[in-house]
Amino acid sequence: MELKGNSMVAEGSRHGQFMKEALLMGEKALQSGETPVGCVLVHNDQIVGFGMNDTNRSMNGTRHAEFIAIAEMLQSYPKSELQSTDLYVTVEPCVMCASALKQYRIRSVYFGCANDRFGGTGGVLSLHSDPSIDPPYPVYGGLFKEEAIMLLRRFYIQENDKAPNPRPKKNRELNTSFQNGSKEAPPTW
Ligand SMILES: [Zn+2]
Repeated sequence: MELKGNSMVAEGSRHGQFMKEALLMGEKALQSGETPVGCVLVHNDQIVGFGMNDTNRSMNGTRHAEFIAIAEMLQSYPKSELQSTDLYVTVEPCVMCASALKQYRIRSVYFGCANDRFGGTGGVLSLHSDPSIDPPYPVYGGLFKEEAIMLLRRFYIQENDKAPNPRPKKNRELNTSFQNGSKEAPPTW
């Protein structure tokens, strides 16, 4: 994965500020019973689109945060402006979104935690850097990674409580530890 010097994107920078906005969207998704993934699109230092996962409410598996933010932006901007727009998303974009972002020619993508099951920007496939169809885009991962993972863990704990045969309680305690260098993967998020 292209980490560009591994977390060289400082959390106190303006990138961090935008990622905090994305985390707030993830929090909103969690409160709505959606897998907590949030994002914002930033154009000329301004947020022009907000997105949160909306697949459960809409019963539409393509309603990912990225698509919702893009739809919002396109209400006010032509598609070509995505070429000067950056995406901040709490979880690495999936294969579907990574491909769409490329077709929209997103300028760059900043994400929190990796998506080892469905990731399209290094987690599983590396569509962002594949030069065969549309031009590649740079990806910077790891920005507020722990916060992004905690949102997911809180969601999965809550989901298990709703299951007909919940796992034993000792497996349902919120894991708050982050081991250095450990690879985070669902459902251990
Ligand atoms: Zn997606």
